[in-house]
Amino acid sequence: MRQVYLDNAATTMVHKEVVETMNKYYGNLFGNPSSIYDFGQTAKKAISSAREKIASVINANPDEVYFTGGGSESDNWAIKGVMTANRKKGNHIITTKIEHHAVLHTCEYLAKNGYEVTYLNVDSDGLISLKALEESIKDTTVMVSIMFANNEIGTIQPIKEIGDIAKRHGVLFHTDAVQAFGHVPIDVKEMNIDLLSASAHKIHGPKGVGMLYVRKGIKIDNLIHGGAQESKKRAGTENVPGICGFAKAAEMALETMNDKMASISVLRDKFLTEIPKKIENVKLNGHPTKRLPGNVNFSFEFIEGESLLLYLDMEGISASSGSACTSGSLDPSHVLMAIGLPHEIAHGSLRLSLSEFNTEEDVDYTIEKLIGVVHRLRQMSPLYIRRK
Ligand SMILES: *Cc1c(COP(=O)(O)O)cnc(C)c1O
Repeated sequence: MRQVYLDNAATTMVHKEVVETMNKYYGNLFGNPSSIYDFGQTAKKAISSAREKIASVINANPDEVYFTGGGSESDNWAIKGVMTANRKKGNHIITTKIEHHAVLHTCEYLAKNGYEVTYLNVDSDGLISLKALEESIKDTTVMVSIMFANNEIGTIQPIKEIGDIAKRHGVLFHTDAVQAFGHVPIDVKEMNIDLLSASAHKIHGPKGVGMLYVRKGIKIDNLIHGGAQESKKRAGTENVPGICGFAKAAEMALETMNDKMASISVLRDKFLTEIPKKIENVKLNGHPTKRLPGNVNFSFEFIEGESLLLYLDMEGISASSGSACTSGSLDPSHVLMAIGLPHEIAHGSLRLSLSEFNTEEDVDYTIEKLIGVVHRLRQMSPLYIRRK
């Protein structure tokens, strides 16, 4: 049976070249970068070179890039580290209702510990209002944390405009760019981004490694205390294979970014035009144009997302009904609620996320199977039948 992997927003296949790079550091080059003998220094040099490659993806300086254990750690560190280090300035943070749980739950934790959090609304396309952002800034505001692109609906926020507002008001700007890094152009200098989170496994790199960019001069407390690694900012013996694999993946992503943005969005647009043409009672979620090249998200009325996933799985298609982290819970996705979908529509949503490994045949096959599955499920739905 055909296997079609359309869940690249959850994780991606590790590139062959990335595995080869990592194997070197799991093999002969297993030294500890903190050791002074030549063998440790080889590992140390590999990390320096990885830092340069990662920095170049976002136009940062290499000494502004700190390796972490993934996107969730980077988000936790950025938010907790900046809020505690700048406690004298204030206790207020502004974020949005559609952030990843790594940001939302961190903010909830802070709120329980004496901090004040403002959650900005988004419109029906998933965009924040710049005016509402500006109006919510007050004397006690320390930082704004707004994601670059949403992992469920793919909407890309006006990042440069947000950066300009933050700068004008003297507040720091963190962006969770896990879905955007290596996929769309990012320039932290031009966009006035002070802190940025990224993760390797969303760009065909390994799981459990990520980075936080921290603009030079920003006050941030450690999240992980211990040894002197990462300029004393993030303790723990470095994950050398993971870091080198991340850099290899980032280097490849940067080199091929323009081509991939073009080719992947052609596949995305085929889904976006064909699905509403061939299936009735569907609604596109997320902004029609300001969206990630690989993101497709539709709600199918009268259908339960989980059943849709199971039926698609039986056809060899791997997809998601929102966020991998929310499956297992009965609550509809907080992102779909925030864009104003009623419960029953939110429950019938499907996210297809593409990568460079998908083909037009994958798209055609998926659309064909989707038509059949939606039809079959609707025939079992009393609501759908009664409506006719
Ligand atoms: C995947 C993801 C994360 C978490 O990254 P991990 O490396 O899996 O911890 C955070 N934010 C967004 C937007 C994501 O898509």
